[in-house]
Amino acid sequence: MSLMETAEAVVVGGGIIGASIAYHLAARGMSRVVLLEREKLFGADSTGKCAGGIRAQFTTPVNIALSLASVPRFVAFPEEMGVAAVFNQVGYMFMSTTEDNWERMQRNVALQRSHGLAVDLLKPEQVRDRLPHLRTEDLLGATWCPTDGIADPNDFLLGYLKRARELGVRVETERGATDLILEGGKVAGIRTTRGDIATPHVINATGAWAAQVGRMVGLDLPIVPVRRHITTTGALDWISTRDPMMVDNGSGLYMHPEGQGLLMGMARHDEPSAFRTDVDEDFVITIVEAAIHRMPRLEEASIATSWAGLYEVTPDHHPILEAHAQVPGLVTCAGFSGHGFMHAPAAGEIVTQLVLGEHPTIDITPLRTDRFQGQGLTHEVMVI
Ligand SMILES: Cc1cc2nc3c(=O)[nH]c(=O)nc-3n(C[C@H](O)[C@H](O)[C@H](O)COP(=O)(O)OP(=O)(O)OC[C@H]3O[C@@H](n4cnc5c(N)ncnc54)[C@H](O)[C@@H]3O)c2cc1C
Repeated sequence: MSLMETAEAVVVGGGIIGASIAYHLAARGMSRVVLLEREKLFGADSTGKCAGGIRAQFTTPVNIALSLASVPRFVAFPEEMGVAAVFNQVGYMFMSTTEDNWERMQRNVALQRSHGLAVDLLKPEQVRDRLPHLRTEDLLGATWCPTDGIADPNDFLLGYLKRARELGVRVETERGATDLILEGGKVAGIRTTRGDIATPHVINATGAWAAQVGRMVGLDLPIVPVRRHITTTGALDWISTRDPMMVDNGSGLYMHPEGQGLLMGMARHDEPSAFRTDVDEDFVITIVEAAIHRMPRLEEASIATSWAGLYEVTPDHHPILEAHAQVPGLVTCAGFSGHGFMHAPAAGEIVTQLVLGEHPTIDITPLRTDRFQGQGLTHEVMVI
């Protein structure tokens, strides 16, 4: 008699994506689901470093669809999951400073509206009326979506984990996946740092590490880690917790209220791909300078804390979401390129549909890996 552990499905990776998938599988009736995280804590990697932005202002139909499916789930989360996780729908404002960018943003808005999203175009004086502490004289306009907003990723991660446990999911930390076991080319199990588990379904939700899991079965998943910085200020009595996410398209700076102060983040465009999350203090100064340019009163602010985490980046800044025909039983859900928190509810739902052999409710054809073999990728360009 074999004493090997068994499971109906094993989800590898205990960030927001893996937790959402584990919850959704159990909520659809899978009774023996295992969620594996190799670190001591769930959410210790990208999810724990996330700025918490949730938005539907994107430039491709599939990203807009993932957001439109996720936003109502964030709103309903406390009721659905029985936890106090709050999505503050304070809106996202994207500000343009060049003709070229402003024209592109207006085209994006036309696409977003055609998908049913309520987005407004604001004149610089309307921006100034709403947010008098912003510099607006160099603005040509801004886009504004009031149903976008911010939330604490940790609250939602813990919510998914709590409900998943209640529904019978076995969640394990300090247990890493080391290899996949195939029989006749299909998934038959997984090797871990604490023994093998026999299972017909493995879901690769390992974020920036997903390419490593792909390589275990010879799959090329073009997902690379890229360091991204965040810095926060001390308390500022002129910042309201109802202020929106503010994005300066010129510099790529984003800012939103955080605690009693402000959170600021920005991409360094020459950041090489690497698994490094040390803080480059010089770059933190660059972020602060960009923030002071857009919000001059920040001259008065003090820095509270800074950190860096990994974006999990694909060549077109869309995730890979696919049940691999070459390896039946394996699903990849990773590579959200900096948008994985906001798309986690839809991702969990769609992966569950794939595992159950159902037709996904969102057309995920653009998220399959065969897009990398064809001519010309469709890029998501609203990446901050
Ligand atoms: C600075 C910063 C700001 C961001 N801001 C936003 C934002 O505003 N909005 C937004 O939506 N997104 C944002 N993101 C992106 C978001 O954080 C990620 O897209 C999301 O957290 C990805 O979730 P994940 O579960 O795929 O990855 P992760 O949270 O990284 O989880 C993957 C897990 O897999 C584990 N793992 C890896 N290999 C193995 C293995 N072999 N066995 C077991 N476990 C393994 C890792 O330890 C890790 O915990 C931001 C990211 C950063 C870094």
